[in-house]
Amino acid sequence: MFDLMARAIDTRPEPPCPKCGGQDFKRWDRKHFLIIHWLLNPGLCVNELLLGQRLPKVMLICQKCDEPLADRSYVPCSECGVLHTGRLWGKQLAFGHWFGLVCPTCGKVIPCIWNFWSLLILIFMFPIWYFPAQIARPHWLDFERHRIGRVLGEPITPASDIPWIRLGMFAWGGIMWGVFSAGIAIHAVVERDWYLLWPIPAMIPMWALGGMFWGLLIKTWMNRKPSRSVL
Ligand SMILES: [Zn+2]
Ligand SMILES: [Zn+2]
Repeated sequence: MFDLMARAIDTRPEPPCPKCGGQDFKRWDRKHFLIIHWLLNPGLCVNELLLGQRLPKVMLICQKCDEPLADRSYVPCSECGVLHTGRLWGKQLAFGHWFGLVCPTCGKVIPCIWNFWSLLILIFMFPIWYFPAQIARPHWLDFERHRIGRVLGEPITPASDIPWIRLGMFAWGGIMWGVFSAGIAIHAVVERDWYLLWPIPAMIPMWALGGMFWGLLIKTWMNRKPSRSVL
């Protein structure tokens, strides 16, 4: 069904950019290397399955707007065709989209891709999650509509003002540290050997540094202007 919807967007003329009115978009879909990376990188299972961070099947990047990449990326709704700024699903709306992103205009689900490894895990764990997910789905989607409605009213900070490096260190680094620490803690409990816990404090500087680089990378990436764009 999702493939049919994706094809439906393919044939529909793209609506103009909400900022500049232009229709010159770069299309990010299954043929774009970032999306291919998202499909194949095994580490992204954590983002998808645990954190519910999802990537829409199609993203449109305006080539006319002279703005940072993050501010000219749009997610088209496959149902109503409205273009939503990709920034909508940042900050507090970045996580928890296990059932897909919800369009704030029509309330329908915008299809997202699944990472190959997440799909593999989902197939193997099918009996565990399927029925609870069926029950939770309508309630969760209602909650998604509710929270996206709240965020819609708030002004969106320009990408150039976002403290990416601090976010990388504390948010990304913190989450990664938390996930790995939980794994190590479980291992230590299973083995009943508390000395196995030593990497938990030792990993703090590692993830802080890793997070700083991640932030720097995202900062550079998100602030790219169309003229310098090579993609
Ligand atoms: Zn534009
Ligand atoms: Zn819609």
